[in-house]
Amino acid sequence: MTQHKWVSIPSEGIGSIPRPDNLLEATIGYESDVVPREVLYQTQLNATETTLRELDELTHSEVLTDGEQTKPSFLTYPIYELINKSYRFDDKCFKITFSDGHVRTLPRLIKAPFQYATYAHKYLDVAKKFTKKPIKQAIITASALSMVYLPTLFNMTAIENYSREEFLQDLCNECEKDIRLCLTHGAHTVQLDFTEARLSLKIDPTGHLLKEFISINNRVLDRFTPEEQKKIGVHVCPGGDCDSYHSYKIDYTLVLPDLFQLHLRNFYLQLSSEKDRVKILNCIKQYMKPHHRIFVGVIDPINPEIETAQAVRDRILEAAQYIPLEQMGTTDDCGYSPFADDRSRSRKTCYEKVKARIQGTKLAEQILNFGRA
Ligand SMILES: [Zn+2]
Repeated sequence: MTQHKWVSIPSEGIGSIPRPDNLLEATIGYESDVVPREVLYQTQLNATETTLRELDELTHSEVLTDGEQTKPSFLTYPIYELINKSYRFDDKCFKITFSDGHVRTLPRLIKAPFQYATYAHKYLDVAKKFTKKPIKQAIITASALSMVYLPTLFNMTAIENYSREEFLQDLCNECEKDIRLCLTHGAHTVQLDFTEARLSLKIDPTGHLLKEFISINNRVLDRFTPEEQKKIGVHVCPGGDCDSYHSYKIDYTLVLPDLFQLHLRNFYLQLSSEKDRVKILNCIKQYMKPHHRIFVGVIDPINPEIETAQAVRDRILEAAQYIPLEQMGTTDDCGYSPFADDRSRSRKTCYEKVKARIQGTKLAEQILNFGRA
């Protein structure tokens, strides 16, 4: 009998956990000039410390996130502080419409050059003060922010002497810096939130926009060595927010072949909420590459019901028929609160779901390893 080396199945969350009430209140108070900055900052620190501790103690996760407690949203954090200076919200902006009819708007660039005010390592530096465990840091893709200046598609006003190509150069420089700073500041992995991948096929069913998004992101990723690319990943999903999606109806299998062209290693893929998981798994099997790691979504944050560890185990055993054990990982289908004001789930429910993921992953790991003996 051949003795196989034990193969662990890594498990990582996507990023966000709902913010506590006192943090949301302090944020609103700060924006209305009734709460001083120091009070908001202390409330943010407390929320970050509590989230890291609870994720550690209540779920036994090996890799932690700060729960994105101080990000205004997964999408706008780099430019949030420049709104009304370099960016503006108006009717010419790119808008995302969700299945329940609610809309999220991306501000548009009104003043060159494109630049970030906040880099994600800021969150990582704070989180590192509170834990010795590895920390994953999520960042936004260059492709998502490419929508802040797209005069041709959305009738945005072009900025004088600032071509789309000049904009793309500035954008790629900023996104590269965002990733690189997270890596040099010790992130366990850096995850690109690429929720607009599936959305792009809703805007442009020809797939041209999706290919352009992949190409913009690879323009950034190609600046990293293969060793660095091993610590970089991407998350895709149908865009959950306030218990609805923006692109669930778009065929996932039209996104995956292009997605696997990204020059990085780790794929955090929504899967558990799909109606036909076998079809998706077949597509993953066909297009994934030997150096990829596939973190399959085994928990659905949109579903208020808490999954059992056994249900998680079974989803992994199903996925293991298509993905080699050495390339398998598990994750949640999405974050629990990608926009700061999304309070669809309680924090307690989120932790119970994460705990089920961790326990179910261990159960599957045992079965799959013993099955190889
Ligand atoms: Zn997501």
